[in-house]
Amino acid sequence: LAQRPAPYLDDLNPAQREAVEALDGPVLMLAGAGTGKTKALTARIVHLLALGKARPHEILAVTFTNKAAREMKDRVLRMLGPAGEGMPWMGTFHSLSVKILRRHAELVGLKPSFTILDTDDQLRLLKQLIQARNIDDKRWPPRMLAGLIDGWKNRALTPARVPSSDGAAYNNVGTEIYAEYQDRLRTLNACDFGDLLLHCVEIFKTHPDVLAQYQRWFRYILVDEYQDTNVCQYLWLRLLAQAHRNICCVGDDDQSIYGWRGAEVGNILRFEKDFPGAKVIRLEQNYRSTPHILAAASGVIAANANRLGKTLWTEAETGEKVRLIGHWDGEEEARWIGEEIEAIQRGTRGWAPVSLNGQAILVRASHQMRAFEDRFLTIGLPYRVIGGPRFYERQEIRDAMAYFRLAVSPDDDLAFERVVNVPKRGLGDKAVQSIQREARANGLTLVDGARSLLAGGGIGGKGANQLRAFCDGIDRWHMAIRDARPVVADAVIEPLLPDTPPNSDLGHVRLAEVILEESGYVSMWQNDKTPEAEGRLENLKELVKALEQFDSLQGFLEHVALIMDNDSEDATEKVSIMTLHAAKGLEFPVVFLPGWEDGLFPSQRSMDESGLKGIEEERRLAYVGITRAEELCTISFASNRRVYGQWQSQLPSRFIDELPQAHVEVLTPPGLMGGGYGAAAPGFGGGFGSTIEERATRADVYNSPGWRRLQDRQGQRSVSQPREARHVTIDHQAESGYALGERVFHVKFGYGRVIGIEGDKLDIRFDKAGEKKIVARFVMPADI
Ligand code: ATP
Ligand code: MG
Repeated sequence: LAQRPAPYLDDLNPAQREAVEALDGPVLMLAGAGTGKTKALTARIVHLLALGKARPHEILAVTFTNKAAREMKDRVLRMLGPAGEGMPWMGTFHSLSVKILRRHAELVGLKPSFTILDTDDQLRLLKQLIQARNIDDKRWPPRMLAGLIDGWKNRALTPARVPSSDGAAYNNVGTEIYAEYQDRLRTLNACDFGDLLLHCVEIFKTHPDVLAQYQRWFRYILVDEYQDTNVCQYLWLRLLAQAHRNICCVGDDDQSIYGWRGAEVGNILRFEKDFPGAKVIRLEQNYRSTPHILAAASGVIAANANRLGKTLWTEAETGEKVRLIGHWDGEEEARWIGEEIEAIQRGTRGWAPVSLNGQAILVRASHQMRAFEDRFLTIGLPYRVIGGPRFYERQEIRDAMAYFRLAVSPDDDLAFERVVNVPKRGLGDKAVQSIQREARANGLTLVDGARSLLAGGGIGGKGANQLRAFCDGIDRWHMAIRDARPVVADAVIEPLLPDTPPNSDLGHVRLAEVILEESGYVSMWQNDKTPEAEGRLENLKELVKALEQFDSLQGFLEHVALIMDNDSEDATEKVSIMTLHAAKGLEFPVVFLPGWEDGLFPSQRSMDESGLKGIEEERRLAYVGITRAEELCTISFASNRRVYGQWQSQLPSRFIDELPQAHVEVLTPPGLMGGGYGAAAPGFGGGFGSTIEERATRADVYNSPGWRRLQDRQGQRSVSQPREARHVTIDHQAESGYALGERVFHVKFGYGRVIGIEGDKLDIRFDKAGEKKIVARFVMPADI
């Protein structure tokens, strides 16, 4: 091999370097937080490419979140310089599986255009199955069934493989519904999240030729956050790697936080058994955090009995102690953190200023986010929520997405059900039921069922016309998409090429707007007089904006189905708010850890559990939280918290007792100077906060200059303008439906003007694409 300079190797320590250079054969890198596991993994990819051991698409790198995949891509690009041959396959188990499954969908009874269900759809479907059986949905709540089915899927169990003891525990109802559910999904040409992996594993197991193909392609496999893989993911990896055994997994048993989702730390031990002779590498130097932060984290995790155990050390300067502060209630906690963030951003107490991007709030439960969001909206502090499907869970967003799904696949019955009467089309429950009956009786999709019902006069009156318009709309939008994108040839195994970059043709963005307007969905909210309506319109705009980063509606839908990540690349500085689970692998100079209260963190559920399993997983979560911080870590708790509308008084978290005192500084809350409040955490004096009068706290806060400043700022907040009304009308005058000179829009060719009409064909002069003859139904009127 030619001796090429390799700058990416220079800033690695010897153990990391060993991990990077052991390219062939199985490697397991087991090490604590911040020791550079991800860094070494990334360098390994670069090394493989630099030495010419693999071409980019022969490398498969699995990360835990899409965000992590993006960051790894960026790092590889930075190390490689301008990419020549494309990029390796990098993504989550789910995103990679979806790509594989699209190529072989028919092997598991699906079409390549299958849709991916979200939890809502999944629950709706299960509810239908429960109702159809006439069993009590109180005893069989859909949510519980969904949990059961997910659990089986995580263990790679198809309905036929669920052990009889498992089935018996649920009277076999669970397994029977599981089987029915899978059948229904197939009829709907859909799969849920768990299926993405399960189907891949099935395909690999039952089609050795397909598996062999992928084994040849993915010559090197790398896995980050390995401690959180479940059995199904493990099988997926093992099948792909068993031929060449070039697999490198990195992880930290102390950061295993997905046990509740079926992750098995045991996979770490299993690795050495399944891949005998694996090289095991341990890293001990932490490069992320200051000694105080590291000592605090190590102190907490030391209370866990079940761990492999490891040492961590750092050369970093001592820095600040971990700060601990108690508040009267959750709102005050949010208020204090908001002010603290602004102070740190300006540079305070002699600390260097830290930008908003460098600051994060990590919560245990997503419902804790609202207090921060409300607060930050009030004071105008920019923030982003990472890891929550928050945005995409909103009603208007889900409705809009259902329309997009119908446009992409008109046979998406769940989407049809969701929006057939949204906006109101005069179709009551009865009408919807008769559509379902018609469809079921004739083996049709709902949209075809509706048509057949209309044709037979089974639906009359105003509803009929509106239903017809709805079905026609679906057709028209679908046609527009089909015309723009050639249908993917079924399951042709083509060479796996890296992702194609999004194209600049934004036709699908315009189409999305047209869909939302033609369907009457936008006008529905424009005519809505409730206070939320304006916000909903804003969100719809946001949604359309998000589409611009994708090259098709389908690509976008896939993305949304997969992501847990709504922060589009946006240059403005923002504080990050996310759950501890979503924070895995990330780092920030400044970290806030609010809500350290028994029942919240550790969670009530883990405290109620017999045995230590639950509590130990919570403690690992605490370890993950503290180790995200580079320079400043602030833990807080409140004495009172409103939980589901009820005020509860809270006790500080038992984890606070486990913080080694030498590395912690207790802060006094604002307005309580000299009140003895701050000195009273358990383990730090006891009886925290319970003696404080609410009035005293509040009066102090309301009179503080900070509060007034906030009030002023609130007054200045600009009110956004209501969206201008726009309407698209389709004129059905001539056979073509268009007039000479009319402006039209085509998904692929963009805007143009009609310059000739021949029956149903139009001559169109497109602004960019020149003159073309197009069948009228493939274009739509442009409203500009
Ligand atoms: P986690 O367990 O939290 O995922 P990790 O082990 O993956 O952590 P990295 O995120 O790879 O750790 O690295 C932590 C920080 O330390 C990063 O900022 C990284 O750039 C830095 N780092 C890692 N190795 C070195 C090194 N040899 N020299 C200097 N900095 C390093
Ligand atoms: Mg990492």
